[in-house]
Amino acid sequence: MSASRIPLIAPDDLKKPGYEPAQHLQKQVDVRGLEAELRRCVHGEVRFDAGSRGMYAVDASNYRQVPIAVVIPKSLEDVIRTVAACRRFGAPVLSRGGGTSVAGQCCNVAVVIDWSKYLHNIVELNPGEKYARVQPGTICDHLRNAAEAHGLTWGPDPATHTHCAFGGMLGNNSCGTHAQMARSLKAAGLEQCTAG
Ligand SMILES: Cc1cc2nc3c(=O)[nH]c(=O)nc-3n(C[C@H](O)[C@H](O)[C@H](O)COP(=O)(O)OP(=O)(O)OC[C@H]3O[C@@H](n4cnc5c(N)ncnc54)[C@H](O)[C@@H]3O)c2cc1C
Repeated sequence: MSASRIPLIAPDDLKKPGYEPAQHLQKQVDVRGLEAELRRCVHGEVRFDAGSRGMYAVDASNYRQVPIAVVIPKSLEDVIRTVAACRRFGAPVLSRGGGTSVAGQCCNVAVVIDWSKYLHNIVELNPGEKYARVQPGTICDHLRNAAEAHGLTWGPDPATHTHCAFGGMLGNNSCGTHAQMARSLKAAGLEQCTAG
């Protein structure tokens, strides 16, 4: 069991004018302390400005939640340090790939980790043994195009295949028009996105 504090609310709070469901979460986080810690230990981009937070408040859904901050990691170490800092400060974390989710999966009062900008490389493509290893921010079509050169493909293809990333596909257990042939993502055997 986690030792983190679980925020509780009174039902009457929900009836107060101007109440937003996630407000109480942000109030409990020492945002300035978290900012200082993230700036100290992360080499990638650490954004607490209103513009960035506004930009990451939405995905392809109708939901909107302004995040606490956005971290754009340049390495797996950055991600590990971000998660450790958020845990220390009791801040929720939320990963983001292409942000094409339609049910608000990428909107929350959390520290958003955007994998798509730097951690988007094909680490290994092995046509002989028919496998690939990719970083979580790799776009679906980038792998499909690379594999096509060897007469291979990646099966699960959501309609957003030009923009969606492997981390996001895994998070949503995505499938597409070829799902009957290739099965959904998890059924297709991809259980872990590796960063290398
Ligand atoms: C027009 C349209 C058509 C669509 N068609 C389809 C379709 O045919 N089939 C289908 O399945 N879906 C479809 N979708 C939904 C969506 O595009 C897919 O599910 C897509 O694969 C999501 O990928 P993404 O990179 O955008 O994920 P995101 O939206 O960025 O993230 C999805 C989930 O994964 C989590 N996540 C992201 N990266 C990581 C990571 N590195 N580690 C852990 N968790 C992570 C996120 O927190 C979130 O919960 C459609 C959406 C739109 C707007």
